[in-house]
Amino acid sequence: MTNTSDIIIIGAGIHGASLAFHLAQRGVKATILEKQFVAAGATGRSSGLVRMHYDTEVDSRLAWESFRFFRNWSELVGGNCGFTRTGFIQIVARKNIDDLRANVAMQQRVGISSFLISADDVHRLVPSFKTDDFDFAAYEPESGYAMPSDTAAAMVTAARAKGARLVQDCAVMGLQISGGRIEGVETTQGIFSAPVVVNAAGAWAGQLNKIAGLELPYDTWRHDTMFVKRPAQIGPSHPTVIDFPNDMYFRPEGGLTLVGLEDGNPLGEAPEGDVDHAQAGFVERAIDRICERVPMMEQGGLHSAHGGYDGITPDQHPMLGLAGLDGFYLDCGFSGTGFKIGPAVGLCMSELILDGAAKTVDISSLTPLRFAAGKLVSGQYQSMWH
Ligand SMILES: Cc1cc2nc3c(=O)[nH]c(=O)nc-3n(C[C@H](O)[C@H](O)[C@H](O)COP(=O)(O)OP(=O)(O)OC[C@H]3O[C@@H](n4cnc5c(N)ncnc54)[C@H](O)[C@@H]3O)c2cc1C
Repeated sequence: MTNTSDIIIIGAGIHGASLAFHLAQRGVKATILEKQFVAAGATGRSSGLVRMHYDTEVDSRLAWESFRFFRNWSELVGGNCGFTRTGFIQIVARKNIDDLRANVAMQQRVGISSFLISADDVHRLVPSFKTDDFDFAAYEPESGYAMPSDTAAAMVTAARAKGARLVQDCAVMGLQISGGRIEGVETTQGIFSAPVVVNAAGAWAGQLNKIAGLELPYDTWRHDTMFVKRPAQIGPSHPTVIDFPNDMYFRPEGGLTLVGLEDGNPLGEAPEGDVDHAQAGFVERAIDRICERVPMMEQGGLHSAHGGYDGITPDQHPMLGLAGLDGFYLDCGFSGTGFKIGPAVGLCMSELILDGAAKTVDISSLTPLRFAAGKLVSGQYQSMWH
């Protein structure tokens, strides 16, 4: 088989998969090169929260456009993304109420189903939650979570059905560059040529940016999560929650509850670190936090804990677009919050590459060139992960 294609995508996480899917919808057959297997990186470790609450409009718009896919998956993509509607509650401390109110107003302008509800309303929705430390929360009745590995696999399958090629166990080791243009990549399976190469390598993307000669701020971010067996008294399910006062988020999955913490996520580790086990002390801290919000969890039991690595940028927003090397696009740096926006980012990137600009959502503020220009993205408060 010839190793020449129109577009090479490095990495088969949600972002490589989504871009390949949307390119295939436009008749462009990309080659995806993946050093391990589909969803081997952050995507396969992701907590899969699907919510629209953000403090920047570009994020809310990307999440909202992606939500169109999550809730109509079999018609729009095929296969299954495992979307489960649980409702989503964003809890903030009393001092953040003005920001919360402004975010909800912005989301309502975008068309998102989001409301401000009182702590009493939260208590009526979920009597097992402790609600005495906040006055208001944002509520998205349609949100929930999806299965990230299934989501990426469904997009790759749909892309392949339209002619995309997936090469697994194929690590990109070098780039072929001539006269300031990308011409292909050097891999453990030989040379692959294309006039366009997209770096969707997640936590490893910084290494490839360096090989490309791009001077960009890029780090790795480690994040651990834990599953606990929920005591029966709490009930068969509960909403998906981001809990700012406890620096935590949690969501149900069958009889389990998944918990992640905002703090204690180290930067700068090698992304090959041990992801089969959580860091020392994480489980104890996570149990303390979940029991703060849901005291009945004290009767729960630990099921499992593990970790994962994502790429992170200084403003915790992705790098989308060209960065100084012709034909070499960046689709990386999702900073711990990239799963839920995957379907829309792939669509926007396909528009950027094929048409010269994204029209579904204006992603120009996410250009990798913003760092050199000093135009970092910022919101009302630095939104938490997930
Ligand atoms: C534990 C955890 C929980 C999270 N929870 C959420 C959440 O609830 N909601 C949310 O929206 N986001 C969440 N995130 C963030 C989200 O998962 C990531 O932003 C997203 O999955 C990144 O996708 P990606 O395709 O950019 O990267 P990845 O999924 O990491 O994919 C990159 C791929 O590139 C491959 N690769 C790397 N280098 C090379 C190379 N040289 N050659 C070939 N292939 C290569 C890797 O093997 C990998 O498969 C979470 C992240 C973690 C770690």
